[in-house]
Amino acid sequence: MKKVRKGTNLSGNGLYLPFSMDLKRFRILAARKKTKLTGFLTKLDDIVPEDMPKLVAKTDATVWNDVDCTSCANCCKTMTPTFRKADIVRISAHLGMKPKEFVDKWLEKEEDGDWVNKQQPCQFLVDDKCSIYEVRPKDCAEFPHHNKKPFDLYNDTFIQNLHRCPATFTLVDRLMKAVEKEYEW
Ligand code: SF4
Ligand code: SF4
Repeated sequence: MKKVRKGTNLSGNGLYLPFSMDLKRFRILAARKKTKLTGFLTKLDDIVPEDMPKLVAKTDATVWNDVDCTSCANCCKTMTPTFRKADIVRISAHLGMKPKEFVDKWLEKEEDGDWVNKQQPCQFLVDDKCSIYEVRPKDCAEFPHHNKKPFDLYNDTFIQNLHRCPATFTLVDRLMKAVEKEYEW
């Protein structure tokens, strides 16, 4: 997903709180910790712990115990997916539209040639749920890209999304703590 416009998970007793239902609180904490987490991800560009894939998978599994996308939808509200040709064909057919009609109505082309939404929040977000979930763009289906390999190749994406996606914020925050504990960092 691309940025177009523009998650405290630690309570006082050190327990993670599910904050995806409180985006205001998330934004405050994310703003406070963004520089530190960005620094961690930037350093990961140079130093990648050997067992990083395992650590990412293990940590990511804990993230989804605490972050609930169905109560968040911040990505759909503040970013746009890129639409590949296959996405346009599939979604327009689902809506009973011709691909050109679909493009003219909803999309615009960026300088790099990517098709993106004209508007935010996404036109398909209804009551904080995706109304075309079964046929949504591949970019949406893969978001927030935590399973991409190698993980550190997507550092720039994660840096962009730290203050937009509570799941990415939580993953990077927990990864940083784990790496700092286990490695000379
Ligand atoms: S297509 Fe669905 S999942 Fe993708 S941004 Fe729009 S509402 Fe969100
Ligand atoms: S992927 Fe991130 S921003 Fe999107 S709904 Fe889930 S937690 Fe929120």
